[in-house]
Amino acid sequence: ERPSEEDQRVSVCVRVRPMSEAEVSDGFTQVINCDLDHPGTIQVLRPPGPSESRKQETYTFDTVLPSSAGQAAVYNLIGSPIFDRLADGYNSCIIAFGATGCGKSHTIFGLNPKQERGLVPRISESLFKAFSNVGKQTLVKVSYLELYNEKARDLLKPDGVENGQAASLEVREHPKAGVFVEGLTRSAVSSSEDVLRLVDFGHKIRVVRSTHMNAHSSRSHAIVTLHLQQALNEPGSRQIMRHSQLHAVDLAGAERLFMVGEDTLRRRESMQINKSLLALGQMISKISKGMAGSFVPYRNSKLTFLLADSLMGNCQTAMIACISPSSSYQQLTESTLRFATSVKEI
Ligand code: ADP
Repeated sequence: ERPSEEDQRVSVCVRVRPMSEAEVSDGFTQVINCDLDHPGTIQVLRPPGPSESRKQETYTFDTVLPSSAGQAAVYNLIGSPIFDRLADGYNSCIIAFGATGCGKSHTIFGLNPKQERGLVPRISESLFKAFSNVGKQTLVKVSYLELYNEKARDLLKPDGVENGQAASLEVREHPKAGVFVEGLTRSAVSSSEDVLRLVDFGHKIRVVRSTHMNAHSSRSHAIVTLHLQQALNEPGSRQIMRHSQLHAVDLAGAERLFMVGEDTLRRRESMQINKSLLALGQMISKISKGMAGSFVPYRNSKLTFLLADSLMGNCQTAMIACISPSSSYQQLTESTLRFATSVKEI
């Protein structure tokens, strides 16, 4: 069944990862409470401080996934409705946000052999289960790009890996085809294993390139896009092509949003990350309030320009704020939750 106009187009969720072994052995405590009687709320305990400051703060979201929620639960709650939209021919978007080390890439990818598979592998599996006719009536393609300092680079093209200087690609808008990245590889795939091989290949290029650029991959945004093209038989034996796409976005570490780097390179990075994250937050906020028809300055940053087609119009977006339960992250956690709240409520 199709979601109606009133259906929520943007959902903001929080996922709490478990305490890491290091956090436990270093003596940090858990400062997050997920209240099972009030699903959707999350409480952050604060360290003892000035008497006028609160001992805890409560935040409310569409969904809160406690540390006990595994990858399958995350897929069922967030991935599966997004997949349904994609299969129905609509664009959709999953965005993981949060400080480095809090579970963004675990949630989006989870491709490390020690991890359980995350959203992209599970959505790919659903896709090839649902469309057994891939290659005939249905075509699936994958692209993978990285945005660093407002430059978009192809992660499926090994050029420039040696010196990190792969060509930077332009984002363009076509009156009919919509927003696209000029020259970005779109690889046709015929199984979910194909998808994972490509993503893994892209991950490796990302690491090598960032090393050559004296950067860290946590300072770039990574976007995997699944393109779905379905040939539909209309009455009167006319065939139409229906395109839809899903962007899965692993955003740059949000610590950059809350602090300004020391040296020039770090400061430049921080400014670019801030600009794009703030623009994204404002854009999602406008859309979630049903202001999609009003003017949204999506061309102001590459990130919002790129995602415009999947955020505006009849699209479904899930934003997942990833946090650590540890006291060592308390301030970053609160900043992350405040940002996630602002997306719903400005
Ligand atoms: P980020 O992408 O935000 O920097 P990662 O996804 O790399 O963070 O997560 C940091 C570490 O925590 C990884 O070792 C990852 O496997 C682990 N981790 C993150 N989230 C979970 C989770 N929900 N369950 C178990 N381990 C997790």
